[in-house]
Amino acid sequence: MSSEPSGAVYGAGALLSILRDGQARTRAELVQMTGLARSTVSQRLDALMHHRLIMPAGDAIFSGGRPATAFAFNSGARVVLGADLGATHARVAVTDLGTEIIAERTADLPIDRGPEPTLSWLVEAFTELLATHDLTSDQIAGVGVGLPGPVEHSSGRPVNPPIMPGWDGFPVPEWLGSRLGAPVLVDNDVNIMALGEHWAGQPEVDHLIFVKIGTGIGCGIVSERRLHRGAQGAAGDIGHIRVTTADDVVCRCGNIGCLEALASGSALAGQLRAAGLRAEGSRDVIELVRAGNVQAVRLVRQAGREIGDVLASIVNFFNPAVIVVGGDVSEAGEHVLAGVREVIYSRSLPLATHDLSIRSSRLGDRAGVVGAAVMVIEHVLAPHTVDRAIAG
Ligand SMILES: [Zn+2]
Repeated sequence: MSSEPSGAVYGAGALLSILRDGQARTRAELVQMTGLARSTVSQRLDALMHHRLIMPAGDAIFSGGRPATAFAFNSGARVVLGADLGATHARVAVTDLGTEIIAERTADLPIDRGPEPTLSWLVEAFTELLATHDLTSDQIAGVGVGLPGPVEHSSGRPVNPPIMPGWDGFPVPEWLGSRLGAPVLVDNDVNIMALGEHWAGQPEVDHLIFVKIGTGIGCGIVSERRLHRGAQGAAGDIGHIRVTTADDVVCRCGNIGCLEALASGSALAGQLRAAGLRAEGSRDVIELVRAGNVQAVRLVRQAGREIGDVLASIVNFFNPAVIVVGGDVSEAGEHVLAGVREVIYSRSLPLATHDLSIRSSRLGDRAGVVGAAVMVIEHVLAPHTVDRAIAG
């Protein structure tokens, strides 16, 4: 008996997932790849064409005899709405089914204003972006939202988020879904950034860690190319790992000596204020670094070492191939990365660091909205979801 999967397991959704790599293929090629009967492939292609998920590719492919029509994924079939809500600012984007950004907008939007004012702004922003691009709500495939706190992914509800008063248990998917008329998926902001960075930067990598250094510190874990959320969705909360026994470093979580209380953007701003400089948050810290302020540069480097100290243990434990450093503070670039690398390479096991790449985010402040779109696309274009949509 052959161990190859039977050709019959390929429904229309599976056929679509072959074409989602962007390469156009003829009917004959798809017959060969799937082992399905030509008539079955034709039926499934017709169904995908009918739902506009694929389209005939521009040029017919000549293979000796008659020209054969090729089919390609139609990433313009629908649009995806992605939102990345941070502690103090928000970014929203409309993308196609390939995460290409069609329109976007950013705004200062403090999350502690509560769920309804924040989400009302989202609905308004999305509605305006769609209207300016002559898009209608029936073209929305789904909505992805990242929130700066723990989220129970299955229900999309925030769980005791420390910096989001009024959000605990708020039914974000239902509230947004009824106003935007599309399915809504919600996750922690660091998780969606990890998804975005993995998708756009290095989809071939199996194990990746995304570290966000912003107002707080957290990390998103991609394991076996999937997001690892943990039992309660709390995986990757490295900001509250204890790094010092100094009892004057009190964290907002109530504990003493947390990484976040020492090395986050708000902690650095606090240290700069104590030194008599003007710094309200992580953005001001970066401004000072860019202006060449020696104190700010020194603090950011030291923060890199403290974060590297925690990551060195994580490298030994998890053995990632890539560590991506993102968030506001990562805009200090090599100043942060130098400290992170220095400690990881000196403290982690040689086998774990042998091929380890430590780099800054390629998507920058778009990682969140791209990741929010990826979360939606992976859901709505999953083979079983496509099969169900076609059947019903
Ligand atoms: Zn803490």
